[in-house]
Amino acid sequence: MKVWGSQVPKPMLQLAGKTILDHQLFCAQQLNISHVLLLVEHQAEVIIQHFAAHRYPQKIEIFREEQPLGTGGALRAVASHLNEDFLVFYGDTIMDIDLSRLLAFHQQRGPLATLLVHPNDHPYDSDLVELDAESRVRAFHPKPHGETPYRRNVVNAALYMLSPRIFPYIEAGVFSDLGKDIFPRLLAAGETIAGYATPEYIKDIGTPERFRHVEEDVISGKVARRNLRHKRPAIFIDRDGVLNRERGSAIKAGEFELLAGVPEALGRINRSDYLAVVITNQPGIAKGEISEKELADTHAKMDTLFGTQRVFIDRLYYCPHHPDRGFVGERSAYKMPCACRKPGIAMLQQAALELNIDMERSFFIGDRSVDVMTGINAGTRTVLVRSGFGGSDGKFPCQADYSCADFSAAVSYILDTTYV
Ligand SMILES: [Zn+2]
Repeated sequence: MKVWGSQVPKPMLQLAGKTILDHQLFCAQQLNISHVLLLVEHQAEVIIQHFAAHRYPQKIEIFREEQPLGTGGALRAVASHLNEDFLVFYGDTIMDIDLSRLLAFHQQRGPLATLLVHPNDHPYDSDLVELDAESRVRAFHPKPHGETPYRRNVVNAALYMLSPRIFPYIEAGVFSDLGKDIFPRLLAAGETIAGYATPEYIKDIGTPERFRHVEEDVISGKVARRNLRHKRPAIFIDRDGVLNRERGSAIKAGEFELLAGVPEALGRINRSDYLAVVITNQPGIAKGEISEKELADTHAKMDTLFGTQRVFIDRLYYCPHHPDRGFVGERSAYKMPCACRKPGIAMLQQAALELNIDMERSFFIGDRSVDVMTGINAGTRTVLVRSGFGGSDGKFPCQADYSCADFSAAVSYILDTTYV
């Protein structure tokens, strides 16, 4: 087996018995992709020989660059071969993605570019993407971030679906990088770029250490299990009083403080097969106590605090509504009964749809009876923690399946004593 440091180009490295490229072609097969263009910079002979010696269901064409032109320039050189929307994979990534979901997302919106984005365990040295509520890219924050404020953990995973309408923005014969040059250029020109967020597995094998980890994940089945075609269980988590200190009213970033042991417990969820999904009522928006920008800043701080500890939440949903009118300064657009406010289950249903969650194998961890009621309404098992309100609100007459001290104990209970 050829390993690191040899003359083998990365896409030809053997990982768990197959080349990186073969893993990628396998992933692409699900969309019945019939035509693959391989853009290679050097050592093309190894790749040419490989494809001459093996049979593939796809038509595979190899284009060798005379001079390195970056990802933008290399793509521009084959523009005449790309007449419809196409996928771009990087040769040093291993992924198992439900591409039909990505395609549906892209086709629904019709942007020039859809970027696959995800939370990862090192956002502090990753290229971050800022999305709006409609999943459009508002800004790019490439590494290094320097003295930046808090940011959501939304990382450009380097897998794209592009339209040929992108080519007028890429100069032929000139070095350019898709991420650093071309996408910011599209934004500056007012074009739409979309961000498709997914908890599925995609990692680069850029260092020997990462290569080993990724290989372990392929062999253990973790990579395949995270494909959104497969149902996964989730741990739904209430925010205030469970993850962070309860403050009694709408919490702004300056007051947001994680509770002890929370990052470590979240890390345990990240390493398990459970998704970590935060579900929070934020009626402060409707009451006019906090703006959406302030709430976004708080969530950016939460992600950043988690990120520095190398842990992350997979998805966050919040309800900005409140049913009762009559508060000074309230925002009438949000003053309405809704299906998302807990104990309503619309947020969980949306999560189940977007993340293919198996409710029966899932849990809800909260500090109030409303959280227990929400879990019961959605068909999950429930854990009440004694941090925050500690279930003392007494609003709903219901019993949790289990109660314990805090988030950390709840996660131990779920991972150590129950079976998925
Ligand atoms: Zn709502």
